[in-house]
Amino acid sequence: MSTESVKCLIIGSGPAGYTAAIYASRANLSPVLYEGLQPGGQLTTTTEIENFPGFPEGITGNELMDRMKQQAVRLGADVRWGVATAVNLDQRPFRVTIDDSKEILADALIISTGATAKYLGLESEEKYKGQGVSACATCDGFFYRGKTVAVVGGGDTACEEATYLAGLCEKVYMIVRRDVLRASKASAERVFETPNIEVLWNCNTQELLGDEMGVNGMRLLHKSGEIIEKKIDGFFLAIGHHPNSELVQPWVKTNEEGYIITDGVSSATNVPGVFAAGDVQDPHYRQAINAAASGCRAALDVERFLKSL
Ligand code: NDP
Repeated sequence: MSTESVKCLIIGSGPAGYTAAIYASRANLSPVLYEGLQPGGQLTTTTEIENFPGFPEGITGNELMDRMKQQAVRLGADVRWGVATAVNLDQRPFRVTIDDSKEILADALIISTGATAKYLGLESEEKYKGQGVSACATCDGFFYRGKTVAVVGGGDTACEEATYLAGLCEKVYMIVRRDVLRASKASAERVFETPNIEVLWNCNTQELLGDEMGVNGMRLLHKSGEIIEKKIDGFFLAIGHHPNSELVQPWVKTNEEGYIITDGVSSATNVPGVFAAGDVQDPHYRQAINAAASGCRAALDVERFLKSL
């Protein structure tokens, strides 16, 4: 296995990773960033972003991430295609295996591996993954033009996905397990104002129905005990995310949900020299702007850490 030594290694390419790369480059730390399985991270699966400051007309998730990457590269970051498959954080330099074929020895490490969509855990959901079941409306919505789909969840993501799908599909059911939405007022109002979205309140998905062609229906259990069956062509998950911290466990401490614990406002983890930024350490805000800000903090923390050695 080939080996390479770097001062600052960044794992993950969302707003946190790219911002860390921008700041670390300007601090002459010659950062190397591995993009991971989803270059650009979760934002590449959203449509229009209206709340990232500096873009009064809005910007697509893909374009925003592409711009962040370009900025990091222009300032000297070495952005590479590849997935970190194993780490050893027993001592410095830290050992990080890339694609099971290369080892990076890093003086300091920034973990910005983000979070991944949650599934309900139904057998039928697993069976029809990619055959009508998706966790990304903007990736897969196109395939359901003119059809009927369901979105499960009552948060901002579910509202955004339902509204997006309503622009493509004939009908969108939103399956909400309580009698209120968790989403912000603005997202919720957009849903209520969209005529082809029907919210099914107090419902839980019991089973997805289908055949060899994929999903063709769903069975819901209403709070009252009533069983509701609807014909659908697609079923979209929007029930939250779990943090991608497995790679650095058990070295790096996490909370019960797996979010990396950082020290106060800094990005320092319990392992000196290992820093965390973005959604992998943020169970509260989970916004691109927060992820970017924490990437900045991580790069500044790395700079101070390396100077202190
Ligand atoms: P949230 O955790 O906010 O919402 C998850 C939703 O899924 C909740 O309605 C929850 O129900 C429901 N849910 C969870 N588990 C199940 C289950 N097993 N069965 C049925 N329903 C379930 O996640 P989001 O991804 O929506 O948002 C994450 C964060 O990102 C939030 O802070 C949000 O504000 C933010 N965000 C902001 C956007 C924006 O500002 N443009 C866009 C997208 C996200 P319950 O309410 O009953 O717990």
